[in-house]
Order: sequence, then C-alpha cells, then structure tokens
Amino acid sequence: MSTVYPASTEAQERETLTASDLAWEQELNPWLAAEARFNIAAERLGMDEGLQKVLRTPSREITVYIPVMMDDGRIEVFTGYRVQHSIARGPAKGGLRYAPDVTLEEVRALASWMTWKCAVANIPFGGGKGGVICTPSLLSQSELERITRRYTADILEFIGPEKDIPAPDMNTNEQVMAWMMDTYSMHNRQTTTAVVTGKPLDLGGSRGRKEATGRGCMIVALEALKKFGMKPEETRVVIQGFGNVGGMAAMLMARAGFKVISIIEYDGALYNANGLDIDALMEHRKETGSINEFPGADSIDPHEALYLPCDILLPAAKENVITSRTAPKLNCKIIVEGANGPTTAPADEILQQKGVFVIPDILANAGGVTVSYFEWVQDRQGYFWNEQLVNERLTELMVEGFSAVTKYGDTHGVHNRTAAYMLALDRVAFAIKLRGLYA
Ligand code: GLU
Repeated sequence: MSTVYPASTEAQERETLTASDLAWEQELNPWLAAEARFNIAAERLGMDEGLQKVLRTPSREITVYIPVMMDDGRIEVFTGYRVQHSIARGPAKGGLRYAPDVTLEEVRALASWMTWKCAVANIPFGGGKGGVICTPSLLSQSELERITRRYTADILEFIGPEKDIPAPDMNTNEQVMAWMMDTYSMHNRQTTTAVVTGKPLDLGGSRGRKEATGRGCMIVALEALKKFGMKPEETRVVIQGFGNVGGMAAMLMARAGFKVISIIEYDGALYNANGLDIDALMEHRKETGSINEFPGADSIDPHEALYLPCDILLPAAKENVITSRTAPKLNCKIIVEGANGPTTAPADEILQQKGVFVIPDILANAGGVTVSYFEWVQDRQGYFWNEQLVNERLTELMVEGFSAVTKYGDTHGVHNRTAAYMLALDRVAFAIKLRGLYA
C-alpha cells in the first residue's frame, strides 16, 4: 500500500523557495562560477591535488580603506581591493573597476580569470584584478582623482612593471591610468610608464589599445565563421553593451561587413533587420548621450532583444547575463563573450545541449590584455609601434589562441570553455612545476 503525501504543504513550499533562491544566489556568485569551471578542467586533466590547491588559491589579496576628502569638505572612507591570483607565468596583470557592488569575491574571480586569460593568449603574465567600491556617476572628477591616487599610494609596494600592472576595466579609463602612473612615478622619483597599461597615447599608451578588446572579439568571430563556412555579410549580430568593448566590436564588425541588427543597452535597445549604421549611432550617442531615439532603427525591449534570432550574440556588458533562466530562450548559433563572466556555470550545459558554439571570455576578450602586453613591451623598450603592427600582432595571437583552444577541444572531446580552461591550467601548472616551490 502506498502512502499518499499531500502535494505540497506551505512549509515545503517555503523550503523549496529557499532552496531555489539559494541555488540562484550560488549561480550568480562569480567565484563559484570560476570554481565550477576550474573543477571540470582540473578533473579532466587529472591534475595533482596539491597543484590544484595552489591554483585555486590567490597568491595575495590586499584590502585598503581609502580616506578621501570630498568636494564639500566631508571625509569619506572607500574600500578598495587588489587581488593577485597568480604570478607563476609573469607579473600579475589585470584591470581596476569602480562600482558600488564590487566585492572581494568578485575581484578574486576576475583575478583568476585574468590568470587563465593570459595563459590562453600565451602572454607572459599572471592574473590580478582591482576594485574600489564607489559610484563613479556620483563623484566629481577631482573626487575620482583623489580616490585613484590614494588607492594607488596604498597598494604602491605591491604594484610595478615587474610585479603587478593594472589597466582599465568597468568605469575606469585612460585618465584613471594616467593618475595611477603619476602617483606611482612621484613616489618612486622617476617616470615609470610601464606600471599601468591602457594609458593615453601621449603618456606611453599603445596605438590600437582602445579598440583591442572589440577587435579581438571580431577576430575570433571571423575564425568561427570560417569553421561554419559563413560570410560576415550574411551574419546577423546582436551586441549587448555599447561601451568600450561592445561599441568598438560593433563599429569594427559593421565596417567589416557584419550585419549588426541589434544593440542592447541597460536603458533601451535598437533593432534594424538590415543592420545598423554604427558610425551614425556613435555620432547620435555623442550628441544625445544615449542610443535611444536613433532614427535609423526601431526601439525594442532590451530584455526581449537578447532572444532575437541571430548568428552571433556578443554579450559585452556585465556578468551573469546568460543564465539558467535566459539560456533556454536564446536564438543564436555562436556566442562571443566580450564581457568577463557573462555566462553562469549552469547555463553552460544548456548552451551545450542547444549546440551553441561558445567562444569563452578567457579567449574572446583577450584582445585587451594582449595589446596591454604590447603597451608594456613598448614602454620598456621606449620604442613605439604603428597601429598596423599592433593589429597584425594582435591578430596573430588571437588566431593562435582560437586554434589552440578549438584543437584542444577536438583532441579531448570537450567544449570550448572546458578546452580553454584545460589549456590555461596546463600552462600555468607547467610554469609552477618548472619554478618549483620556494621554501
Ligand atoms: N580589464 C581588461 C580585461 O578584463 C584588460 C586587462 C588588462 O589589459 O590588463 O581583460
């Protein structure tokens, strides 16, 4: 005789809700996302437990409390982080972000992604990342400058051309890098341009750096098209984000013949089935401050635009956009991850089942740090390259990265993301083995 239980009691419902809330919270936690991918790759590689421990743990985490005099005379204290995940293959390298929701866990995840990204791109850096909890839109330029300078002074002994080289990330730019470079240089009594990358051209910046992440996305997209026997002219692209990464990718891809049919921003989205005129849209945004009300396109709901039928979806805005909730509704063949961590770990499986060809962030957006590497080389040589040379060398490294990852995937029978992680873990582990453990 079977016992019939009530379908669900109120208590059970509450429990289920809590459990699913917890699962959702975990899905959105970037450090857990990084760990999930790490675990799959480490297991496939059969990696030694001890080495796994080393690679899982950041090498150094610095927290600083930054007292700053605000314009109105008040004193505020901001919290800043710098995480150096690995220095096995070279100095730590990675951006600095300013946002109200920065957390140490997020910065730690982003730092580890930089380690894997530099290893996939095969450039001689480890991984690092920084963040300051603040709301840049509410700060004046001089307040931003004081935060930047004090943050730099507080982490001074941990950064340097041979130690850790910051760069721009979300809400930071070449002006912020110029202040960092100046603060570092003033303390050291000598101008040291190679301490940061993504600087203004007149202060040791590199030609092509601003476009580099977007250009890198286009280069790997072109490689993917070759695999599928497709031409840019017949390729519909939807891009989320119109900032440094999305905007540059849109501009370069439109110029290369791709049909950029939709641009999605946080406050609106545009659609034109024949492809948007991106240069005109850039002009419109410069004049009006937003992409909305652009005459050359229809306005659509930014949440729905993600699900438009297209060939390439290029998320270039923020983390956790492609999730277990949104992934089932996507209508794209290829995903090029311009942002860091746009896809959650549970969404990976859904995309695999749907047969979407994913070019993972640690490969797709490596163009930025690759040209940062070129900038660092040029600063140290004191000899600057023309843009054509920068772009040629970027293309060479991105194409090599794409081919290394896809070949690795074919050889080991795994999807691109796992292949990229396996390749990266293998390269970093090899460096650690060669160096040995200093005791
Ligand atoms: N913030 C960029 C990234 O996430 C660039 C980092 C760099 O150039 O060091 O890849």
